[in-house]
Amino acid sequence: MRTESFDAVVVGGGLVGAAIAYGLQRQGLATLLLDEGDIAFRASRGNFGLVWVQSKGLGAPHYQRWTRGSAEEWPALAADLAARTGLGTGLHQPGGVHLCLSEEEFEKRGAQMARLQREAGNLGMEYRMIRGAEARDMLPGLGPKVVGVSWTPYDGHASPLFLLRALHTGFTGLGGRYQPNARVERSSAAPHDFSVEAGGTTYRAPRLVLAAGLGNAELAPRFGLSAPVRPERGQILVTERARQVLPMPCTTIRQTEEGALLLGDSKEDAGFDLGQKPEIMRAIAQRAVLSFPWIAELNLVRAWSALRVMAPDGLPIYDQSERFPGAFTANCHSGVTLAGTHANRLAPMIAAGALDPEMTPFSARRFDVRNAA
Ligand SMILES: Cc1cc2nc3c(=O)[nH]c(=O)nc-3n(C[C@H](O)[C@H](O)[C@H](O)COP(=O)(O)OP(=O)(O)OC[C@H]3O[C@@H](n4cnc5c(N)ncnc54)[C@H](O)[C@@H]3O)c2cc1C
Repeated sequence: MRTESFDAVVVGGGLVGAAIAYGLQRQGLATLLLDEGDIAFRASRGNFGLVWVQSKGLGAPHYQRWTRGSAEEWPALAADLAARTGLGTGLHQPGGVHLCLSEEEFEKRGAQMARLQREAGNLGMEYRMIRGAEARDMLPGLGPKVVGVSWTPYDGHASPLFLLRALHTGFTGLGGRYQPNARVERSSAAPHDFSVEAGGTTYRAPRLVLAAGLGNAELAPRFGLSAPVRPERGQILVTERARQVLPMPCTTIRQTEEGALLLGDSKEDAGFDLGQKPEIMRAIAQRAVLSFPWIAELNLVRAWSALRVMAPDGLPIYDQSERFPGAFTANCHSGVTLAGTHANRLAPMIAAGALDPEMTPFSARRFDVRNAA
């Protein structure tokens, strides 16, 4: 069997793997990106496209900081990709809102936002709970059932497919090697010495990054790591294109650059089943129409489901193997939002051979029962 050597091998060509591979190659490491192929479950091709901060990290300030950091890194990443590839990512960060359809929702949301602000500590967190005429001025056509909204200036959205294409183009443009249809089969691990077999070739490298989404659950233990991720199904509906009306994205409704409205997004425990359920689609559509009654006039043109990559506590997992230093794992259910930190902060840590101390709370060791208080 042929053997090829690289400075780093990244397994998984979705948003997480592509952002890290791009960052590593930009650091000057000869990087190989191995990707299974179109039969795999790819969250990166089925997501909603929010670059979202305002609901992230309740009770987990480290996650709030990481997410905020990523929203801050996003403009630089988008500009860097555009300069290198000529490709846009559709990034807009005008702030964002969460719509509350009852007093109870509004109260609960207000309490969550206040807690997030408290937990932000010195970082601070700007937000407002907005009602009535002011909310209606912000969002044209807001329905009478909307009691109020929470707003932060940090939120935004982007095109996940444009982002994925730009990351791949940027990566290969810098000399990175992308190998599709390459499912990692056999592998071996020693400290700073890894080899993986894929598509009839053996690839060796002193650094290995597992970013295979749901595939990480099986791959991680081979390298002394743990990635207890499971699928969580989300469904999305897409309308025909309309004139630009929504000035900012909402948690479950956003308007793309091209004018289509994306309506989402549900959360179901359905294993690896990629089916769609009419009752879930109906609930998504009903909430959208209660939020903005004019949406009822638009035709739906597409709908799909995709599987989130979910850790038991919903937070990302980042680790370096203690047994086999040089092997890293990256798992999250916000691969669009976190593209900024993955490319600009995590990749340099991996290139340098150590995760910063701020990453310690993201370790999968938090699930180890021996660590439980
Ligand atoms: C409905 C829905 C809505 C979402 N909305 C948002 C949102 O608004 N904002 C946001 O930030 N995030 C959102 N997400 C989450 C986001 O899509 C994921 O965080 C992100 O796509 C995860 O990327 P990934 O690269 O880890 O996984 P994936 O996209 O699943 O990619 C994993 C890759 O690994 C490869 N692979 C697997 N096993 C192997 C193997 N053994 N060998 C080689 N390759 C392998 C696969 O081929 C695949 O290409 C949403 C997700 C869903 C499902």
